[in-house]
Amino acid sequence: MSGLVSIVGAGPGDPGLLTLRAADRLRRCDCVVYDHLASPRLLSLTPAGCEQVYAGKEAGNHALPQEALNALLAQKAKEGKRVVRLKGGDPYVFGRGGEEALYLKGAGVPFEVVPGVTSAVAGLCCAGIPITHRGLATSFHVYTAASRTGEDPVDWAAAARQEGTLVFLMGLSRLENTCRKLLENGLSPDTPAAVVSRATTPLQRTVRAPLGKLAAAVRAAELPPPAITVVGQVASLGGVLDCFEERPLFGRTVVTTRQKSHGFDLSAALEEAGARVERLDAIRIRPCPGEDLQQAFARLGEYSYLIFTSQNAVRIFLEELRRSGRDLRALAGPCLCAVGPATAAALAREGLTADLTPPRHTSAGLWEVLGDRLGPGDRVLYPRAKAVRGKLGELLPTRCPTDQVVLYETVEEARDLGGALATLRGGEADYLTFTSPSAVESTLRALGPDPAACLAGTKIVSIGPVTSGCLRAHGLEPALESGRCTAEEMARLIVEDGRT
Ligand code: SAH
Repeated sequence: MSGLVSIVGAGPGDPGLLTLRAADRLRRCDCVVYDHLASPRLLSLTPAGCEQVYAGKEAGNHALPQEALNALLAQKAKEGKRVVRLKGGDPYVFGRGGEEALYLKGAGVPFEVVPGVTSAVAGLCCAGIPITHRGLATSFHVYTAASRTGEDPVDWAAAARQEGTLVFLMGLSRLENTCRKLLENGLSPDTPAAVVSRATTPLQRTVRAPLGKLAAAVRAAELPPPAITVVGQVASLGGVLDCFEERPLFGRTVVTTRQKSHGFDLSAALEEAGARVERLDAIRIRPCPGEDLQQAFARLGEYSYLIFTSQNAVRIFLEELRRSGRDLRALAGPCLCAVGPATAAALAREGLTADLTPPRHTSAGLWEVLGDRLGPGDRVLYPRAKAVRGKLGELLPTRCPTDQVVLYETVEEARDLGGALATLRGGEADYLTFTSPSAVESTLRALGPDPAACLAGTKIVSIGPVTSGCLRAHGLEPALESGRCTAEEMARLIVEDGRT
């Protein structure tokens, strides 16, 4: 049976502007054919083993001619595959999506179209320009400034007569022509106008100028494609309503080395503040529960304290508890201790409330609170990582019987989730964040023989004293350190620093 071809709009660049349906199709496809306007981050949604075909389509650089591309879509579908044809913006706005659909229809291949957020509207939106606005524009008109035949595709006299907003796609190299033709056809040189480059992405740049000066201003600013040109009264609102490029970390690049499973999403918080975030998955968690864990489960009723110093410990402990046939009732007895709010939140996600969280969110801080409470009549269970820093594991047995069981180990293995290493090596990162010493070790190893040289212009942000100690041992001084040892505070410090 033939598979389905989904012609999917990828949105204008920001992966957050993908539709839920588009994400669903990407997650379930066997083959994705994408062009250069689609964000590389979207490809990471596809399942392992999904075939990825680059179709090109930068101006003048088509990796696959349209006919070959059409045939490829049909052929993959006929092999029974679920195919996603991922196209920038909306597939039916100047994207030749209609041609691809007609071909599939003619070839008898089942297809669907998933609409996308078009750059023509969203690009203006992110530049603070409402495409219509009461009193300024009651219509909008989207043109392509380029044509396949080389002929001028626009009826300029008609365009210049429109009351509404004029939007030009694919037109950066023809901007002089666009401006000249509009002026020749009667538009005032004072008409508000703007060009938005790489709209909706962290690399967005906007040049605003009256129509008579726009082309020169854009050339001087050396704006790169893709770019949208907007002409009309609404463009005057851009300077007033811009809230996208004014975000505190807009224009800054941060490399985060936090691995995914943590509760607070540092990368997302930084992106919300406008940063371009490159992710380096610096460590991998490998569960390695042993026989001693089963023994501890068997005597859970005897413990007076159960200590968690990481979210991973919480997660893996509870997974193993359930696997052993037990449930939360088995934890009714002991006082539950969490090293900090993130670990307490991990407990909360499992339906458990931490009884004790120290004011200082380190294992030393936990000892400060716990040390005086423990007596010889107590018994502590401390499920933990194979290698732990800090002295908690040595101090606990000085007060009472303590069972320490190894739940997992951290494998220091840097996995680049995009261009993080290239960004660091190229000296492009403004900030680099570390939330654990193992992340420091694996990142520095991945950077090669002279990490300090790559990081000369990068501010290093550390989650706390233990991670900072590890950095200093490598000759690197953190520029910012979270006093409370939380990723939330790291985000706040970076945002504050970015404002200055
Ligand atoms: N189907 C797409 C448009 C394809 S034509 C859509 O709906 O958005 C390609 C043109 O779209 C580019 O030349 C540029 O003019 C515009 N474009 C696409 N993404 C853009 C972006 N992020 N920023 C600015 N312009 C963009």
